[in-house]
Amino acid sequence: MAVTLQAGDAAPRRVSILGSTGSIGCNTIDLLRRSPGAYVVEALTAHRNVELLASQALELQPAMAVIGDPSLYGTLKEALAGTNIAVGAGPDALVDAAGLPADWVMAAIVGAAGLAPTLAAVRRGVTVALANKECLVCAGPLMLAEIERSGATLLPVDSEHSAIFQVFDFDNVEAVDRVILTASGGPFLKLEMGAMAKVTPKQAVAHPNWDMGDKISIDSATMMNKGLEVIEASYLFPISEARIEVLIHPQSVIHSLVAYTDGSVLAQLGVPDMRTPIAYAMAWPRRQGSPAARLDLAEVGALTFEAPDMARFPALGLAREALKTGQAAPTVLNAANEIAVQGFLAGEIGFLDIMRVVTEVLERAPGGRIASIEDVTAVDGEARRVAAEVVASMGA
Ligand code: NAD
Ligand code: MG
Repeated sequence: MAVTLQAGDAAPRRVSILGSTGSIGCNTIDLLRRSPGAYVVEALTAHRNVELLASQALELQPAMAVIGDPSLYGTLKEALAGTNIAVGAGPDALVDAAGLPADWVMAAIVGAAGLAPTLAAVRRGVTVALANKECLVCAGPLMLAEIERSGATLLPVDSEHSAIFQVFDFDNVEAVDRVILTASGGPFLKLEMGAMAKVTPKQAVAHPNWDMGDKISIDSATMMNKGLEVIEASYLFPISEARIEVLIHPQSVIHSLVAYTDGSVLAQLGVPDMRTPIAYAMAWPRRQGSPAARLDLAEVGALTFEAPDMARFPALGLAREALKTGQAAPTVLNAANEIAVQGFLAGEIGFLDIMRVVTEVLERAPGGRIASIEDVTAVDGEARRVAAEVVASMGA
């Protein structure tokens, strides 16, 4: 059943979606579709899924459609022939797309590949809905400095951070005792190490509660996703690493919590459907409807919680260490993880090897200070090179 939602603003809002063909991108477009006339689309971008990008562009008529892989330029150009849609390809065109005059930009590219386009949107001083956690992980302090400079508004889309954002009392920061990020624990929550060593990519991408892209699904299975989210939270909220807790909550109903010094703990709940946090970021500071199912707690029955197992899920500790070390360490962690996840998905290394690669790269890759985006790019590139070497040595 199609639901037509009431749009927040009378004048159409100009929006861009970076990573429109992904899980978050498609959920964002689903919400746009339900508010006909409320939005004008400036830019849509994708990496390789040229068919879906073309069909989204024909439907939504953006000013520009960009495909990340330059070899697909001709295919996209042909698919959009006879329209007024400008066509671009390659990394620079992604940045051009992010530079178009949208008031609201969904940053939903996966990985550090989203850094340059997301930064281009931030530099325009507009509202950026951030799903692409890796770009904050690999360049957090620089992103925050650019936000400060440009006056951009960064709204979290990650469900945990959206939850915290909704219950964090920014006017009484000193009364916040800690934030508690919930984690489903992923598909291998109860699996012992011997069995974990043998899991296949297919088993690892099958998340129990959320339907997501491959990379974040693997990150959820290793729990590096939660590690990246601890780093993300430390940049998004005025709270130190020591005050960010992780709590396993397999039902994914409580999306995160904020504990206050008076003993109160505030939480945001909902069914696991990314259209809720996306709708929140679209309508903020108001709210809009979303087609997400209503939460029926009587039907859910029981919510359970447990502490994370740091031995079976070393990713959490690695991420915390990288955050405490600071400077290049989170950039290296993220790059090594991206390459290791790719290696696992390609069948080159085993599941437990993912964290072995990250550990070894954190030891081997040069650290150093991060003072500019060029520094991030250099550290990221070198960490990827070392990680590829480690993956190759394990696969051999
Ligand atoms: P996805 O793999 O489904 O989609 C990724 C999008 O980015 C696609 O449009 C793809 O074409 C594009 N892309 C991939 N590589 C690219 C590159 N090198 N250059 C340009 N574009 C590229 O991923 P997703 O699940 O939608 O996740 C996107 C981001 O949102 C990730 O950072 C993820 O961690 C975050 N996130 C996702 C969810 C979720 O439920 N899916 C929840 C929270 C956060
Ligand atoms: Mg999350």
